[in-house]
Amino acid sequence: SSLSSSRLTIAIQKSGRLSRESIDLLKACGFKFSLHESRLLAHSTSHPVDLLRVRDDDIPGLVMDGVVDLGLVGENVLEEARLERLATDFPAVFTKLRNLDFGQCRLSIAVPKEASYDTLQSLEGKRIATTYPHLLQRYLKNAGVKNVSTAMLTGSVEVAPRAGLADAICDLVSTGATLEANGLVEKDVIFRSQAQLIQRPGELSSEKQALLDQLLPRLDGVQLARESKYIMLHAPKAMLERVVDLLPGAEQPTILPLSHTDETVAVHVVSTEKLFWETMEELKALGCSSILVLPIEKMMG
Ligand code: ATP
Ligand code: MG
Repeated sequence: SSLSSSRLTIAIQKSGRLSRESIDLLKACGFKFSLHESRLLAHSTSHPVDLLRVRDDDIPGLVMDGVVDLGLVGENVLEEARLERLATDFPAVFTKLRNLDFGQCRLSIAVPKEASYDTLQSLEGKRIATTYPHLLQRYLKNAGVKNVSTAMLTGSVEVAPRAGLADAICDLVSTGATLEANGLVEKDVIFRSQAQLIQRPGELSSEKQALLDQLLPRLDGVQLARESKYIMLHAPKAMLERVVDLLPGAEQPTILPLSHTDETVAVHVVSTEKLFWETMEELKALGCSSILVLPIEKMMG
């Protein structure tokens, strides 16, 4: 019952914090698209894939109803939609395929600076403005906090206390600058979120499944490459063991002879962790030179 029977349809956010990175990720996987700002649907020019560009709030429902095959959406929006559907007997089934490495944020409770607040219990009998009433109520229930009412707002949540609409808010935070600007203080993180790739319930046609089977390893390759670095350096042979010990999360390094000397070798290694300045300085202190840390574009095991 998906939009088209032969083209894999992926719902992504049309414009907002997840849009750029959603498109970039698919492009990095080798899927090309021609995007027209005003169009809802974008066809891939390289694969039988269509992008459906919508508000992020619509993505969980489109996937759970089987209107699209895949969706890229924040876990916050996804989990809220799932809880809402569970409460209303709508089907709430989907498969999580991957955690994606963008869209990180947290859903937090914040109160006005001048409010008295010790623990979560301080919120009993109060009203909290939020776009995520189900996530909030689940959290309060698990924490044993009773008698909290919610005011559902889809925007401008941070002004609710000043406007007299609520005593506290529960909203997304990344840097905290918006809270600060509105005289609010973050008190409890109730949910940590990042973007997710999800799949609709039911089987995909064999063509679509084949495409997904191609997409997922590429996706993993792109994400792994982003986390990884290629490290090259010249090391004194005598120090080799200590040098290798210093390299973070390193696999077995490649050791290569240098043409002009017998005392120094070249060490090449792929590292899945960051190489910090401190480590580079230690390497240098061991007599290493020409230390290079390079980004990796693609990886396949
Ligand atoms: P839409 O018009 O699609 O409904 P929106 O205004 O609801 O957009 P955005 O602000 O673009 O949504 O955020 C989309 C998602 O990006 C959030 O649901 C969340 O998963 C993620 N996100 C990451 N960082 C932040 C942040 N600092 N504030 C809010 N959302 C963030
Ligand atoms: Mg939204």
